[in-house]
Amino acid sequence: MSDIINRGRRDLLAFGAFAAVAWRQAAAAAREAAATPPTPLSELAYGQVQFGAGPLERQARQNHRLVLSLDEDALLRPFRIRAGLPAPPGEELGGWYDTYAFAPGATFGQWMSALSRYYAITGDAATRAKVQRLVRAYAATVDARGSFYRHNRFPSYTYDKLVGGLLDAERLGLDDTARATLARTTRAALPYLPPHAMPRNEHAQPGEDFSRHAWDESYTLPENQFQAWQLTGERIHLQLARRFLYDEFFAALARGENALPGKHAYSHVNALSSAAQAHLSLGNPMYLAAAQHGFAMIAAQSFATGGWGPDEHFVIPGSGALGASLEEQHKSFETPCGAYAHFKLTRYLLRITRDSRYGDSMERVLYNTVLGAIPIQPDGHAFYYSDYTRHAKKTFHPDRWPCCSGTLPMVAADYAISTCFTDARGIYVNLYVPAQINWTQNGVPCGLSIETDYPFAAAVSMTLRLPSPQSFTLNLRIPAWAQDASLVINGRREPTPQSGLFAAIRREWHSADRIELELPDARRLESVDAAHPDTVALLAGPLVLMRIVEAEAAAPMRRDSLLRAQRDRSGGREWQVPTDAGAVKLKAFLDIGAEHYSAYQRVLPS
Ligand SMILES: [Zn+2]
Repeated sequence: MSDIINRGRRDLLAFGAFAAVAWRQAAAAAREAAATPPTPLSELAYGQVQFGAGPLERQARQNHRLVLSLDEDALLRPFRIRAGLPAPPGEELGGWYDTYAFAPGATFGQWMSALSRYYAITGDAATRAKVQRLVRAYAATVDARGSFYRHNRFPSYTYDKLVGGLLDAERLGLDDTARATLARTTRAALPYLPPHAMPRNEHAQPGEDFSRHAWDESYTLPENQFQAWQLTGERIHLQLARRFLYDEFFAALARGENALPGKHAYSHVNALSSAAQAHLSLGNPMYLAAAQHGFAMIAAQSFATGGWGPDEHFVIPGSGALGASLEEQHKSFETPCGAYAHFKLTRYLLRITRDSRYGDSMERVLYNTVLGAIPIQPDGHAFYYSDYTRHAKKTFHPDRWPCCSGTLPMVAADYAISTCFTDARGIYVNLYVPAQINWTQNGVPCGLSIETDYPFAAAVSMTLRLPSPQSFTLNLRIPAWAQDASLVINGRREPTPQSGLFAAIRREWHSADRIELELPDARRLESVDAAHPDTVALLAGPLVLMRIVEAEAAAPMRRDSLLRAQRDRSGGREWQVPTDAGAVKLKAFLDIGAEHYSAYQRVLPS
């Protein structure tokens, strides 16, 4: 016996010009219904999700290998020299990271986080040993005067990453010295932190000569400070979390005022995770409203890929600036940092609201942006911007070891905790990727295996492994675009699941029960913004199919021709549109290599 419960009625509006209204209405409805809000969904532990072969597993493995190979003396050099330790061994790492470069040691804490997360996923002893060596060697550089932070352009930014790294080392890397090192790190940084959350371009540190270049991002601090408070119970972390809450920004968003235009994109999306964590830690609904409204406003000015912030800044909605950026702005989306922040924010909002559309949004960013990042090179050259101009090419940032080399290893590790969530009644499947999921339900260990080539195939097969029959709810995310989804359980067709919701299937499950979900790749065109109705992206399911540019100027295509793009006959991952000038080829971003490509196409007016 099975019943499919679709909770509530929701708008089926896709992302686009109208999305902000829909999201805001959903947020208002959620607040009304929140008299007794449900407990947020729980994340699985990193080690409870093991990916099978595929692009997520590959990107995680590449990044694990990269952070494991980083030279430890080079990593420690900026900390050792700035602390005045004599004659430290080894060479500088290079690029942004160097002792007196743009952002000395800024990615150290992020790499410590990434190593700890990969240890939690793989149980690899060499990874754990590296975390322990790095924590201890770093601890030896922390002096009471906070020498590291003197004449440092990014005291808040770097301190925040160190806090995150030490928290992960404590929680995941199993280093029992990390907690004490966190306390010493905080004492050292305190004199150099600004008095409150300050805008990115404001002079952030009295007495330091960065008046024209201070780009510090103190408003991203509270998320990690709340977590440090929860882990250690030290009140200094609660005080810092409160002190750096960007209340001016959050209150405006909570009131429904669009406070985004002109602001630095990645850091402000990252700050919304501080708002979500403030809601969880303090129980103040203003912070949840800020995160939800902020997300809705970002969705309303996102590209079809899910990316946002051309030239790293938010635009004025309705101004046509997004479409205009396609002409010359190659810095369309700061991809690894942006995806890291987007994954975190959508994970919080999905857990808090149980609204599946946050998962839809995460999925778009996954397949159309970060999975297509070129791997970080051993010398520190890293993918930074996705380019949505009409003759785009994947490139590295000119400087080595930029911010995005810190976030790519973290977001690739976080795919594991973004795949499924749980509550007391069951499990929520958010990403359909080849994986073995292990979780505890009704006090017993349960397993779910997912086999699929989605989104390059419609079929998703799931099989349960249970020690004995168990009653629980299996919640499957049905994307808002998947209006032709179908579901078969143990060979029997179930009622059509409603798109834009989690399909909730509650029953007594038996081991080897088989769930077959079909998500046919709904085709649609999305214009870049209302001012450019004939500049469209072609979507197939969650994928944006991008044109491989073979001729400089392509004539506008017919909308119906573009929508009928055919997959190549061999079952490969290339689509074709026949035109008068020959076949136009299309590929997903993760399959594009050295070719020039165009994310958006010109079409004839409808
Ligand atoms: Zn970045």
